[in-house]
Amino acid sequence: MKKTFDGTEVEVVRGDITDQPDVEAVVNAANAELMPGGGVAGAIHRAAGPGLAEECRPLAPIRPGQAVITGGHRLPNRHVIHVLGPVYGQDRPEERLLADCYRNALRLAGERGISSLAFPAVSAGAFGYPLEEAARVAVRTVSEEAPRIGGIRRVRFVLFGERELEAFRRALEEVA
Ligand code: ADP
Repeated sequence: MKKTFDGTEVEVVRGDITDQPDVEAVVNAANAELMPGGGVAGAIHRAAGPGLAEECRPLAPIRPGQAVITGGHRLPNRHVIHVLGPVYGQDRPEERLLADCYRNALRLAGERGISSLAFPAVSAGAFGYPLEEAARVAVRTVSEEAPRIGGIRRVRFVLFGERELEAFRRALEEVA
């Protein structure tokens, strides 16, 4: 499913964030230390190879809502943008911190001249953010912010499971 907001195409697909060769950057739902772990961070570091952790080391730790950028190493993408989502029930205010992840990732992309990027469902896994709410914050923030940043033509949400896909599809349907 796809919708266009003022020249920026926003799409929702089911898939693996490490297998998106046609976008310039993928976003990592990172941990503060920017190290391999479970979920998205584990998959991204496995696919990128050890050079990614090495490049990340001097950039860590990052704070909830913050975004940093590295190369893609062995991933098919030129860049990885690492964000630290809020841990639900712990890092507050959750909604603002989650929106900051998307906003700051888009801002970094804009600064680097990146025109296409893919996000996973930040905070909706190990960090426990309720899925429907996480999807609404993600879709609303991206549809509002991406068109304001010159040059971002395509943003893709890559969801791992059917339930995640449905939540994001619904959020995209509902957003004005
Ligand atoms: P967080 O710690 O920010 O909650 P997780 O990596 O635990 O991040 O999970 C975020 C979301 O990404 C979850 O919905 C999870 O199912 C999904 N996910 C896990 N691995 C992948 C992958 N390889 N590609 C895309 N999404 C993934």
